[in-house]
Amino acid sequence: MDKIVPFNRFPNFPPKAFKGKVLRPGDAGYDEARKIPNTRYGSEPALIARCYDADDIVMAVKYCNAHNEPIAIRSGGHSIDGHAMPQDAFVIDTTLMKRIHVDPSTGITTIESGVLLGEMDAATQKHGYAVPLGTVSSTGAAGLTLGGGIGYLTRRFGMTVDSLLSVDVVTVAGAKLTASETENSELFWGLRGAGHNLAIATSFTYQAHKVGPQVTSGLIIYSIDNAVPILSQMDKIMRKAPRELSIYPVILPAPPLPGLPEQMIGVPILVLIIVYSGEAAKYEEAMFAVRELGQPLADMVRPTSWVEANSILDVLAPPGRRQHSRGGYLAALTPEVAAKAVAKAMCPPTPTSPGPSVAIAFPCLGGANLDFAEDSTAYSRTGAHWMWEVLGMWDTPEKDAEFDGWVDSVMDAMTPHSLRNAYVNLSVDRGPEWLRNVYGSRKKWRRVCALKHQYDPHNRLRYNKNITRAQKVLGRSSFCTWI
Ligand SMILES: Cc1cc2nc3c(=O)[nH]c(=O)nc-3n(C[C@H](O)[C@H](O)[C@H](O)COP(=O)(O)OP(=O)(O)OC[C@H]3O[C@@H](n4cnc5c(N)ncnc54)[C@H](O)[C@@H]3O)c2cc1C
Repeated sequence: MDKIVPFNRFPNFPPKAFKGKVLRPGDAGYDEARKIPNTRYGSEPALIARCYDADDIVMAVKYCNAHNEPIAIRSGGHSIDGHAMPQDAFVIDTTLMKRIHVDPSTGITTIESGVLLGEMDAATQKHGYAVPLGTVSSTGAAGLTLGGGIGYLTRRFGMTVDSLLSVDVVTVAGAKLTASETENSELFWGLRGAGHNLAIATSFTYQAHKVGPQVTSGLIIYSIDNAVPILSQMDKIMRKAPRELSIYPVILPAPPLPGLPEQMIGVPILVLIIVYSGEAAKYEEAMFAVRELGQPLADMVRPTSWVEANSILDVLAPPGRRQHSRGGYLAALTPEVAAKAVAKAMCPPTPTSPGPSVAIAFPCLGGANLDFAEDSTAYSRTGAHWMWEVLGMWDTPEKDAEFDGWVDSVMDAMTPHSLRNAYVNLSVDRGPEWLRNVYGSRKKWRRVCALKHQYDPHNRLRYNKNITRAQKVLGRSSFCTWI
C-alpha cells in the first residue's frame, strides 16, 4: 500500500511577505531538504520553511503560535537525536541564512544561524582569526554554540560560548531581541548552554582570536597494545602541556587513512589527534612528554592550515550513515578508564561498510575552559578535564540493536567514572535526571527552568533535550525544594 503523507498540514503558509522558500512533501527539493547527517531519522516533516532572514522567522513563529503548533529548528542538522527534522513537524530551516561579517581590525565576527563551522573558519581565517568551534566542519554553528561548543581551541580560549558577545533571537512570542551581558542578560546567560530550549537564534556575534593561518596538526598512531600505558600518561602530560596544544586520543578500528598500511585497516588502534596552534618552532618542546611515550606506528603531524586542522575529524564521522552516540565528563583520564575503553574497543560490532564504524574518543578539556566561572553560563564545566565520547556508525536498520547495544555498553563502563554534570550536545538524551545534572548545580537548573517558563511557557521548542519534559517527570515538588 502507498504511504499516506500528510500533504498540506499547514495551509495558508507562507504569507506574501515571506522571502524564503517553503517545501512540503512532494515538492521538488523536499527530499534533499529533509536529509540530515544521521540517516536513522529519515523523518518527513509536514513543512520546511527555509527562512531568508529574521523577519521570515518571525512570520513562521507567529503562524505556529496562531495554530498552537510546536516549532522544530534546523541549522546544521547535526543533532544526534534527529531533532532537526521531526516527523510531521513545522520546521524552521536556517540553511539559507549564511551571511558572515568579520571585522578585520577587531576580530568581532557576526554570523547568521545557517552558517556551518567550516564556512565560519574559512571566513575568519581570511583575516587571521578563529572562533573556538567544534571539530567537524559540517556541524552547524547555531546548535553547537547554544549548547556550549568544545573543540581544539577550548584549552586555549574556553568554549565557544566563552567567546560569544551577543545573540539575536526571535522569541517564541514572535519578538526580535538581542541578548548580551548588558541587554536581556539573564536570557544571554541561558542561551550559553541551554539555548536550544529558549528562543530561535537568528545571528551570533563572537570575539574571534588570532590563530594560524599555519598550525601544526595531524595524527599519531600507536599499536593498541600500547594504548593503556599511553592513555594512562595523558592526564599528567596534558595538565602540564601548553594551552596551545590540544590532544584528542581516539581508540577505533583503523579506517582507511592516507599513509596507513592496508593490512592495518580494521585493526584496533590508538590515534592521538594533535592540533598545536602555537608557534611552529615551539611544537617539539610542547610535545616533549608525548615523545617519551614510545615509538608510534606512524606520525603524520605536519604544518597545516587551521582550516585543515579543524576538519581532520571529517573523515572519521562522515554524514549519511546511521549513528548513535553517548558522552560524559571525566575529572581524570585514569588507567582504569583507559583499560575499560580499550577492552570495549577490542570487541566492536561487525562493520557494515569499509569506512569508520565505532570510535571512543577522549577530547581534552581543562586549561582555559576552567578559568571561566561555573555560574558565568548555563553550560556547566566544573571539574571537566576530559570528555569521553563514544560513537557508532553503520548503514542498515537490522544492525541498530547491535550498535546501540555496544555504544550503551561503553556508556555503562564509563558511567561510574563520569562527573554528574555533562555536555548537552555530545550525547543522545539520557533522560530527565541526566538533563537536570547536565547544568551542574540545582541552583543552575532552577535558573534554566525559570528561563524556559518565561520565554517558552507552552514548550513550543520541544525538539531538543527538553527542559519542560524533564521537569514534568522530575516533579514540581523536587523543583520547589532545591537550594
Ligand atoms: C559528527 C558530529 C561531530 C560533532 N562534533 C562536535 C564538536 O567537536 N564539538 C561540539 O561541541 N559538538 C560537536 N557535535 C555536537 C553538535 O554540537 C550538536 O549536535 C549541535 O547541536 C549541532 O548543531 P546543528 O546546528 O548542526 O544541529 P541541528 O540538528 O540543526 O540542531 C540541533 C539542536 O539545536 C536546535 N537549534 C538549531 N538551530 C537553532 C537556532 N537557530 N536557534 C535555536 N535552536 C536551534 C535544534 O532545535 C536542535 O534541538 C558533533 C556532532 C556530530 C554529529
